[in-house]
Amino acid sequence: MNSIQRITEQAICTGCGTCVSICPQKAINMRENAGGFLYAHVDKELCVQCRRCLNICPSHAENQTIDDVSESLRGKCLQGYIGYASSKNIRREGQSGGIVTALLLYLLESGKIDGAITNQLDTNTNRPKAVFADSAEIIKESAGSYYCQSAVVNTILENKSKRLAAVVLGCQAEAVRLCREKHVEDVRAIEYMIGLICAGQNSGYMMDKLIADCGCTKEEKLQRFRFRYSHPTDGGWPGNILIVTNKYRYRLDQTRRHALKPICESYRCLLCYDQMCIDADVVCGDPWGIPGDHSAGETVIIAHTTKGQELIKEASDAGYIAVRELDAQLIIKGETVDGRHRDKVAAGYAACQKNGWLYPYSVSEKAAKELSSISHKTYRKSLERMQYTRSRFLATDANEVSTLTKKYQEKLKRNKQTSKIKTIVKFPIRCIRYLLKKI
Ligand SMILES: Cc1cc2nc3c(=O)[nH]c(=O)nc-3n(C[C@H](O)[C@H](O)[C@H](O)COP(=O)(O)OP(=O)(O)OC[C@H]3O[C@@H](n4cnc5c(N)ncnc54)[C@H](O)[C@@H]3O)c2cc1C
Repeated sequence: MNSIQRITEQAICTGCGTCVSICPQKAINMRENAGGFLYAHVDKELCVQCRRCLNICPSHAENQTIDDVSESLRGKCLQGYIGYASSKNIRREGQSGGIVTALLLYLLESGKIDGAITNQLDTNTNRPKAVFADSAEIIKESAGSYYCQSAVVNTILENKSKRLAAVVLGCQAEAVRLCREKHVEDVRAIEYMIGLICAGQNSGYMMDKLIADCGCTKEEKLQRFRFRYSHPTDGGWPGNILIVTNKYRYRLDQTRRHALKPICESYRCLLCYDQMCIDADVVCGDPWGIPGDHSAGETVIIAHTTKGQELIKEASDAGYIAVRELDAQLIIKGETVDGRHRDKVAAGYAACQKNGWLYPYSVSEKAAKELSSISHKTYRKSLERMQYTRSRFLATDANEVSTLTKKYQEKLKRNKQTSKIKTIVKFPIRCIRYLLKKI
C-alpha cells in the first residue's frame, strides 16, 4: 500500500496533518477515531498511490534513521536558559513562564514574521485547533498547553506563503524538516520553529472526560479550557485544570489529569525519540527537576541552532523576556531523557521487533545494540502500556474502547495492589538483611 493508510492501520499516525496539505488529489483528511485519536483518513477512490504523503511522514521508517540514540534523544544543545516573560500578565497566563508567547510577540512586533502558528480551543469540537495568529491579541489568547493532539502542520502548510514562527512538538517539527529536505513543499517561509518539550500527547477523550467530570451541564457552552492554569491567584505553577463556560468557572485538581493519562496516552508517542524537539530552533519546557522556587512561573529553554540562540538574545535585549543561562544538561536530567525516556524508546523498539509491529524509524546496527540494554521488568511494564494504547487506537467502536479501557484500568489497579504487597513483604526482609550485616 503506497499511502499513509499503512501508517494509520498500524496505529503510528502522529496526527500532525502534514499529508492533508501535501496530497495532490485532496484524498486525505484528519478524523478522530473511536479511541479519540487524530488520524489521517485516506479516500481510496481518490488516492493514486503517488507516495507523496509517505515521503514526508514522520512515521515512515524510510524517512528517519536512528544512528546514535543519545543524539536522537537530545539533539544539539548550544545553550540552556531559564526565565520568564517580562510582562507580568504574559508570565501569569503562560503555561510555564510565558516565554513562548513573549518570543512570538517579539518576532511579530519587530516585523520579523507576519504571524505565528499557535493553538486555541475550538468551541465547536471542544478540541485544540492550530490557528494563524497575526495579532498580538491572538498570540496572547493562545497561551497555555493543550496536551491533546492538534493537526498543526496542516495549518503551517496552509499559511506557507507568509513569514511564520510555528510552535511545534517534536513530530510536527520532524514533518516540517522532511518537507524542507525533500522539497515537497516550499516551507522556507517558516522563519522560526519554536519547539515544546513533549513527553507525549493524549486522546481527545481526556478533554471530554474532564469536561464531564467538572459537572457542567450540556446546555453550558465551553469558552475556555486550560489543562494547567498556573495564574498565581489559582495557586501558581504548575497549575490545575480550569474550565470556563458561559455560566461558570470550574476548577479540577491536577491529579484528575494524571489519573487519565495512562488510559489516554498515544501509542505512537510511546515510540517517539523526540521529546526535546531537536529540529526546532529552540525548545521550551517546564522547569521540572530544576532547583529553586518556580511558583511565579518559569520556562526552561534549550537553543538547538544559532538562530535560536540569537532569538533569545534579541528578545532579551529588546526587553520581552528575562533569562539567565542554565546548564542544558540540568534540563535534560530534569526531563529524565537518559532515564525514563530512554527506557521508553528501548522498550518500544523491542516490542515492535518481537510483535512484528511497524516501527516508525530505521535503526542502525549501532543504535540497535544501544537499545538492547533494557531490563525485563521495564520491558514487561512498557509492553502492557503499548498493547493497550495500540488496541485503543485501532478499536473500531465506542463499545470496544470502553471494554478495553475497563479491562486495562482493572489491570492497573491489580498491578498497584501487587506492588504494594511486594513493598510490604520486602520491608522485613530488608530489615533482617540489614541487622545480619550489622552483626
Ligand atoms: C502535548 C504537550 C506535552 C508537553 N510535555 C512536556 C513535558 O513532558 N515536559 C516539559 O517540560 N514540558 C512539556 N510541555 C511544554 C509545556 O507544557 C509548555 O508548553 C512549555 O513549557 C512552554 O511554556 P510557556 O509558558 O513558555 O508557553 P506559553 O507562553 O504558554 O505558550 C505555549 C504555546 O504553545 C502553543 N500550544 C499549545 N498546545 C500546543 C500543541 N498541542 N501543539 C503545538 N502548540 C501548542 C500555544 O498555542 C502557545 O502558543 C508539553 C507541551 C505539550 C503541548
